[in-house]
Amino acid sequence: MKSKNQMKKILLMLLIYVFALSLMSCGGKQSADTKKTDKIITVSTITIINDVVKNIGGDKVETRSICGVGIDPHTYKAKPNDPRTVSESDVVFINGFGLEHWIEEMVRNAGGNKKVVTVTEGITPMTDEKGFGDPDPHAWFNVQYVKTYANNIAKTLIEMDKKNESYYKENLESYLKKLDSLDNWVKAGIQKIPEQKRVLITSHDAFRYFGKAYGLEVRGLQGISTEAKAQTEDVKNLVDLIKERKLSSVFIETSVNPKLLEEISKETGARVGGTLYSDSVGDEGTFEGTYIGAVTHNVNTIVNALK
Ligand SMILES: [Zn+2]
Repeated sequence: MKSKNQMKKILLMLLIYVFALSLMSCGGKQSADTKKTDKIITVSTITIINDVVKNIGGDKVETRSICGVGIDPHTYKAKPNDPRTVSESDVVFINGFGLEHWIEEMVRNAGGNKKVVTVTEGITPMTDEKGFGDPDPHAWFNVQYVKTYANNIAKTLIEMDKKNESYYKENLESYLKKLDSLDNWVKAGIQKIPEQKRVLITSHDAFRYFGKAYGLEVRGLQGISTEAKAQTEDVKNLVDLIKERKLSSVFIETSVNPKLLEEISKETGARVGGTLYSDSVGDEGTFEGTYIGAVTHNVNTIVNALK
């Protein structure tokens, strides 16, 4: 027979053992790699979404974007270390509506089971007028829709990090207010352009949500995706429209090759009214490197050229 003391000792050791096991299994729930940070590591497909994540997540998140500044997401070719970036993340935020046709394969190459959140969830997309019926992915150019992006991102971060719920909610509230004032400012800005001059001609059809929300006619040389190359007929139609309506300006985009539009500009005499941010924000660390800054730049550029 063992003494009472010995029994106590064994019981204590057993408790310590069970406790140690439970600690190990908690650790195992973290990503397979030893995580170097307490922050939620997020990966967004485009810089526009990444900026919204920064605004909501603040110093509780470490953010990355697959497509960098000035990169066209429609024709993006995955880089060798993209799957690794995805596998090291806790969550992937995508736009959806067919923008990132490369993301599924990338997540698969990253080992598969990854939390992927579509930030446009809840938005009814515009469809392609050219009859393909594809959803138009550029929903971020209706500022009101970016409130949906922000809400979906906040909901996800709160689910993943309940203890900081009030922090995310505060950031969300303040960001939604900024978006509302941006929305009002855009509306007022476009009103400064004489009605018959409210025509926005760009390299690709990224501004249909913008046109619908703020009252501009929009025409892109290429369709809603840069994957489809402009046809001779598209060029001719655009040239005719510019001459017929005596339009003074066309606009190039930071993430699209400007060559063809510059030629149209030469042929018609319509000047290049400026460069717009379409599928990417501007350089990091600048005002234009934020979603709000990029929209502000676009509206100032458009209004100055067309009014
Ligand atoms: Zn686009």
